Parts: sequence; C-alpha cells; structure tokens
Amino acid sequence: MQVDDPVAAYRKLRSEVDRYAHAAGRDPAGVEIVIASKTQGADRIDPLLVEGCRAFGENRVQEAAEKWPALRERTPDLELRMIGRLQSNKAPQAFQLFDVIETVDRESLALAIAREAQKTGRCPALYVQVNTGCEPQKGGVLPNQADAFIARCRTELELPVIGLMCIPPSEGHASPHFAMLAQIARRNGLADLSMGMSADYPLAIQLGATHVRLGSAIFGER
Ligand SMILES: *Cc1c(COP(=O)(O)O)cnc(C)c1O
Repeated sequence: MQVDDPVAAYRKLRSEVDRYAHAAGRDPAGVEIVIASKTQGADRIDPLLVEGCRAFGENRVQEAAEKWPALRERTPDLELRMIGRLQSNKAPQAFQLFDVIETVDRESLALAIAREAQKTGRCPALYVQVNTGCEPQKGGVLPNQADAFIARCRTELELPVIGLMCIPPSEGHASPHFAMLAQIARRNGLADLSMGMSADYPLAIQLGATHVRLGSAIFGER
C-alpha cells in the first residue's frame, strides 16, 4: 500500500529513531535518516524537502539524473547518496549527481572513481559496501577482503573512504551482519555506518548505525 502522507510517516519514524537511539545510550543526532526515494516522483519527494529532510538515497544513476537536478536547484544543501550498484562507466555521471557514493564494492569501480577524482580534482565521500552474507548476487567486498580493500582505496588510491555499508540477506537475523560491519569499521577507523532498512533499523541503531536507509516505511510498498 502506498502511504498517503510521507511527511507524517517521516515524522513518526524520526521520533522512533530518536527513541531507539536513546534506548541504546546514543545521541539521536548521530543517527541520520537517509530517505530511499527510488521509484518516487518529485511530487512525493518535494513535501519532504519542505519538511527539512536533506539526505536521500537513489539506486540508479539514470533515475537520479532525471529527478534530482531540478530538486537540487531549490535545495542546494541537499545530500544525495548513491545506494545502488554503480557501473564503472557511470562514475563520471555519478560524480555530478551524488554527494556520497555508498556502494564502492570492487577494484574496477575504485579505479574508475580514482580516475574521475584525478580528472575533476574532487570526489564524493565514499563508503565501501561489504557483502556480509557472502551472497553471490549481491555487491560488496567479502568480509575477509574488506581490510585490504579499504586500505588500498585509502592509501594507494587516496580515496576519501569514510564509512561502510551493507545489505544483509533477506532471510535470517540481521544482527550478526550489522555487528560484523561495525567491527570492520571500528578496526579500520571508519566513522560512518550505513545499515538498517525499514524492517530492521531498530536493530541497526542498537548496533551502531549512523545512517539508516528508509524507503517503504516512509512511502509505502513500492
Ligand atoms: C530500497 C533500498 C532501501 C530501503 O528499503 P526499505 O525496505 O524500503 O526501507 C535501503 N537500501 C537500499 C540499498 C535500497 O535499495
């Protein structure tokens, strides 16, 4: 079912997020809601911008290019995040659209991003995606290769990696995956943790999420 009033849903979620943060002994200001706005038109997004929401996640470069430049004109302090799989040849377009790329998940993409950063003299903030469930159909570096990949990105390619992101398997308990991501972040000195979606964000907050990516809880089923 589609939610009639995404702003009301957002307000309720924000207070839930605050409540879960408090319960975990954390500062609610340290947990940002990233609104996953894939498939939503500007008419559904605009009221959230008016409400003051600034962090949005999109899954596809093409869709983001169609929707966001016009919205950004009215909301320059927007923070648009790439949360879907990024093809290396779309890195140049992603640089123009996104403030954060959460899905750096393989060597070829890291190289394409490094090339684009060289060329443009700037770079979006980057998260490394970790395939915590080792699922073949999912993006992300394998957990046992995460440390080496993060080091290569930061040290050799001089990329601004500031966080980690994961999408746990749809079946089973998410907590071991969130705990693993938090542990990898801690030992690599990475501050940002993008984990938790509509179904499991309370658990993610408990385990240290700094960014929860919420779609259906705000807009309804896609
Ligand atoms: C769609 C999407 C979300 C939001 O999922 P919901 O279950 O609708 O909250 C979060 N992260 C990614 C990568 C997504 O594609």
